[in-house]
Amino acid sequence: MIVEQPHTTAPKSVNPTPEPLVRSVRLWLPKRVVFTPDALDEPFGQQIYERVSSLDLPIEVMKNNRITGLRGADDRETYRIAKNTLAVVKAPPSAFRLQPIPPSADWQMNLAEGCPAHCQYCYLAGSLQGPPVVRAYANLPEMLTNTINYEQPGKQTTFEVSCYTDVIGIEHLTGSLAECIRHFGTREEAQLRFVTKYDQVDSLLQVPHNGQTRARVSLNAEPIARRLEGGTASVEARLQALRKLALPKERGGGGYAVGVVLAPIMPIPDWREQYTDLLDRIAEALDFACDLTVEFISHRFTAGSKDVLLQWYPNTSLDMEEASRAEKRNKFGGKKYVYQPTDMQALKRFFYDEWQRRFPNAPIMYWT
Ligand code: SF4
Repeated sequence: MIVEQPHTTAPKSVNPTPEPLVRSVRLWLPKRVVFTPDALDEPFGQQIYERVSSLDLPIEVMKNNRITGLRGADDRETYRIAKNTLAVVKAPPSAFRLQPIPPSADWQMNLAEGCPAHCQYCYLAGSLQGPPVVRAYANLPEMLTNTINYEQPGKQTTFEVSCYTDVIGIEHLTGSLAECIRHFGTREEAQLRFVTKYDQVDSLLQVPHNGQTRARVSLNAEPIARRLEGGTASVEARLQALRKLALPKERGGGGYAVGVVLAPIMPIPDWREQYTDLLDRIAEALDFACDLTVEFISHRFTAGSKDVLLQWYPNTSLDMEEASRAEKRNKFGGKKYVYQPTDMQALKRFFYDEWQRRFPNAPIMYWT
């Protein structure tokens, strides 16, 4: 039984569970915003410039298309500088060669790379090159037009835009997500998918999505969210955002197809109680008919991501003890550390049963 094998470095549960905290996260206001000359040549880059100027943020225009001044005296300072910087750049030609991203979607298309939040298990650790600055793409409209080449006639081709950033965390600065929603709203055989841990969704409620966007919210058990998801909205605020996105337009909502991404799932000592509480709260937030899906993602890490995370968060309480995990290889031979098969089975059974009991009409997309 997982409950009898607490992970020594797993986040400790908070018992008794305190009242839900409705903490709408403060908007991210970077201390430095830099534009490359190329980005400013783009009409969408100009729009971002105007948005950022209206927020009175300090703007620099680089002399050439390289972003400099991101390195500090040590890793901590580099992290701090990068996480306070928004760079608006032109996406390179490689960004136009889309990569498949199963099981989440058919293709990934990144409207930005880098994220203002501070999750101690961050999925970007080990995949971003260099300091974790947020780079938003000024040639987004061109990238969106390019996705049309990847649509497969006769089926709904899905495009995921949140693999490398939190799209709502930066939306007030860029307007990029609304641009994507509008684009896919004009496509009949392509669907946009995004996921967020932020709750500022009001600006999206009126965007014409025409049912071609699935808006997903990433959720986790309270103790995990409170301890490990720095800079994000509270679980309660995210639940309210999910409700707003899903409510029909005539009830003041966005009328979006929605989704819950439960991630990263961790067998903390009282995981059954904590996740039961979360599932009950999702059911309360979505107490009306809506188009809902769920994705379940258990926690995993690689040697590379662990190294980066320990540089970023040296005092983390996140369990990344290789000895307690099972090894899993991907098709390229890369090794990642996942939970032991018995733990995985117990978790999976619990989530499938409890989900289907509460949401019999909401498909489970996958467990991983
Ligand atoms: S929201 Fe996602 S991308 Fe951003 S810090 Fe958290 S895990 Fe990383």
